[in-house]
Amino acid sequence: MRCPKCLADDTKVIDSREAEEGTTIRRRRSCVACTHRFTTYERAEEVPLTVVKSNGQREPFDRSKLVAGVTAACKGRPVTTEQIDHLGEAVEDEVRLQGPEVPAQLIGVEVLDRLRRLDEVAYLRFASVYKGFDAAADFQRELVLLKKLQES
Ligand SMILES: [Zn+2]
Repeated sequence: MRCPKCLADDTKVIDSREAEEGTTIRRRRSCVACTHRFTTYERAEEVPLTVVKSNGQREPFDRSKLVAGVTAACKGRPVTTEQIDHLGEAVEDEVRLQGPEVPAQLIGVEVLDRLRRLDEVAYLRFASVYKGFDAAADFQRELVLLKKLQES
């Protein structure tokens, strides 16, 4: 979604809610470049969302599967079911905007982005089991990033 003010391509959804009795989704967005905030409306048609795996296989997006993966990573960690559910919703919201076909890697990155803010141990567990992320270089990059965040 392009920012109407500075035309940057990088905007983040900061809030989304149903409007007009659930037929429309109202999204509050923020431009990453200039922080301009604006609202978009989207028809809530049930558009199927397809996940394209790194081997080219396609499968329908399944939020419960995603939530199960995150739940496993959060085992024994101080993360509530509600936080995990919310993460699942936020990730689905975000990837639907990129649909109808999204690479599995994008979903993984969106999960990691949010999990990092919830719990570092869960984040590293998820990163290490995440299939599109098993290249040692990627993992190393994430560790460096995490270390930077801890220091800041
Ligand atoms: Zn902008």
